[in-house]
Amino acid sequence: MAKLIIVSNRLPISVSKDEEGLHYAESIGGLTTGLSSFFESGDSLWIGWPGITSDDTNEDERGQIEDHLRQRDYHPLFLSEEEQQNFYYGFCNDTIWPLFHYFHLYTQFNEDYWQSYQKVNTLFADAIGQIAEPGDTIWIQDYHFLLLPQLVRERVPEASIGFFLHIPFPSYEIFRLLPWRAELLRGLMGADLNGFHTFSYAQHFLDSVRRILGYDNKLGVIQAEDRLIKADAFPMGIDYRRFADAGDLPEVRAEVERLRAEVIDRQVIFSVDRLDYSKGIPERLVAYDHFLTQYPEYKGRVTLIQVTAPSRTGVEQYQQLKKQIDELVGDINGRHAFLGWMPVWYLYQSQGFHPLRALYEIADVALLTPLRDGMNLVAKEYVASKTQGRGVLVISEMTGAASELVESLIVNPNNKQQIADALHLALSMSRQEQIRRNRAMQARLERYDVRRWAEDFLESLAEVHSAGMSLSVQILNRESEAALIEAYRRAEDRLIILDYDGTLVSLTDYPHDATPDEDLYHLLTTLVGDKRNQVLLLSGRGKDQLSEWLERLDLGLVAEHGVWIRPQGGEWQTIEPLDDNWKASIRPILDRFVERTPGSLMEEKTFALAWHYRRVNEDLATVRAQELKETLLQLTANLHLDVLEGDMVIEVKNVGINKGKAAGYWLNEKPWSFILALGDAWTDEDTFSVLPESAYSIRVGLKPSLARFNLESPTDVRRFLTRLTQDTIKRPLLL
Ligand code: UDP
Repeated sequence: MAKLIIVSNRLPISVSKDEEGLHYAESIGGLTTGLSSFFESGDSLWIGWPGITSDDTNEDERGQIEDHLRQRDYHPLFLSEEEQQNFYYGFCNDTIWPLFHYFHLYTQFNEDYWQSYQKVNTLFADAIGQIAEPGDTIWIQDYHFLLLPQLVRERVPEASIGFFLHIPFPSYEIFRLLPWRAELLRGLMGADLNGFHTFSYAQHFLDSVRRILGYDNKLGVIQAEDRLIKADAFPMGIDYRRFADAGDLPEVRAEVERLRAEVIDRQVIFSVDRLDYSKGIPERLVAYDHFLTQYPEYKGRVTLIQVTAPSRTGVEQYQQLKKQIDELVGDINGRHAFLGWMPVWYLYQSQGFHPLRALYEIADVALLTPLRDGMNLVAKEYVASKTQGRGVLVISEMTGAASELVESLIVNPNNKQQIADALHLALSMSRQEQIRRNRAMQARLERYDVRRWAEDFLESLAEVHSAGMSLSVQILNRESEAALIEAYRRAEDRLIILDYDGTLVSLTDYPHDATPDEDLYHLLTTLVGDKRNQVLLLSGRGKDQLSEWLERLDLGLVAEHGVWIRPQGGEWQTIEPLDDNWKASIRPILDRFVERTPGSLMEEKTFALAWHYRRVNEDLATVRAQELKETLLQLTANLHLDVLEGDMVIEVKNVGINKGKAAGYWLNEKPWSFILALGDAWTDEDTFSVLPESAYSIRVGLKPSLARFNLESPTDVRRFLTRLTQDTIKRPLLL
């Protein structure tokens, strides 16, 4: 039975130890809730660190912990104190965390940390390798395990492997600073699916993969050798009902009453974060100070409650930050307070669920202004808790949540004037307006809650994994070739569909160099010489070139990727009426790219324009091709044109015309008893996609494909076609 294996740095249960013995504390994080239904259904297990090091426990205690946790399907992996220091505090929190949150000056590039990161990832991979089986799904969580997907792939190649990053993925310009950038990306490439909170994080990842590893993508899907890797956005939700329904709990009611008595009739601005430099707490305090100066009428009428939960207390930067916040709070209170009113209530302590829910309820405004935050769940919890509909969320545009919570007031956390104005707007917003905004956000948060998020990710993982498996490279081996030849021999009428460049002849730098040679003429003559064969040549080339080279053979011809067709012995005709007026607006753009990109050239076809860049310097080619694609995609959106990317060529042409559609002209002619199609590029995938199931299809090159088989090169294609024809010619003699 296939299992779901979750991997995260911490297990949902945390173990501690004192004189009285071992203690187990359960933490109900978002992930645990999201996955609860998968866990309840049985065949799942969770691997992670139990919160206590191997140095702090003896063998007997570790055994006890293991027994205790395994009853819940939790598999603890113990780390030593040193690993905890170098892996967790070191590489995770002193390298990746600051860099991925754009604090590159805080980032430590330390070789010992890196060694430890590799070691711990390998330790986890070994543990997973012992438990996992080929059909299992393995879902790896967060930045502690960027290397793990590939390490697991090596141990369990056929498993479905998903990865989710809970922090931002930074832009290429930041990510490239890492000395181990290629290694980390290769690690992630082991996953079938990489999930991010926002579309732009996914784009940043894809951009880095393209620039650092050289793999391009189509709509977020990377084809790397024989695998598909997808990157997509799955904005993590919260346990919506838990927050929405908690208003009735007696513990929450009591806390709300107590707080209301304290704040009396003052309006409450509420902020809550872990103590972390990414949260922008000092900047927020400065903005609040500015607000009190700019809008002095609020003095005495408003209170900022700032809750800061202690975090990573052993790290120096965090200690300094705490000191800075203490001083700022003291300074603001000292300058603005008067007897009976304190502008900032500062709580340096973690709040449990009930007091936190009560604070959300009494807060007129939630002021959440991280400098960077992967998501910011607090913002969602606040909105979910406002069941009466009142309350205004002011949120930093640098959070993942801001891209979903568009009805909130969105601010730049570095712009104190904007924050001051937003606070004023929030505190004076009409009741109806507050309700309107909150109801819209609540509807979305309720629908896409954390359970739906987990489901969505796992469904998408299953899809991309099975697409990857069906696309996996299947070399046409001796056995399958023999079966194919046998089917060919028995068939009375055969349709043979051949691509030209890259299939029958090798690709060349200059397209006109790829003239058919004598061997190829001979091979094609033999093929068409058999009366049972109908041979069709599908090409991206122009019709004049094809006529010049191949007219003397009795072939069906298709030019310009399906724009023109020429039945045997017939005339060239377009597959449907087409116009080319669009060329006048697109041609100048391609001209400009040719000028700016040495080595590139434009090819004009009747209903297409193509920009070839095979001879362009590799780095420049990648950048320019991307640039051109983006420019064209914007321009062509309303023009009924397709932008296609071939092997070192970008082509613009009338929409809906492709080789598959052209092949249909012959495919529909009659029920063929044998169909064979060969092609090397993704434009041939359109042909493969329209073939009936019984057809034989071969993709040239070891790329994943809809084709049933792969052959490595045009040389192999010619050998194979020669065997096909020879076998059948010989056959009558053997009978
Ligand atoms: N939280 C809490 N008590 C506190 C502060 C925070 O329970 O005193 C919880 C909060 O409810 C939220 C999480 O911690 O679920 C913080 O998540 P967020 O995405 O906002 O920030 P992170 O700490 O993950 O960077």
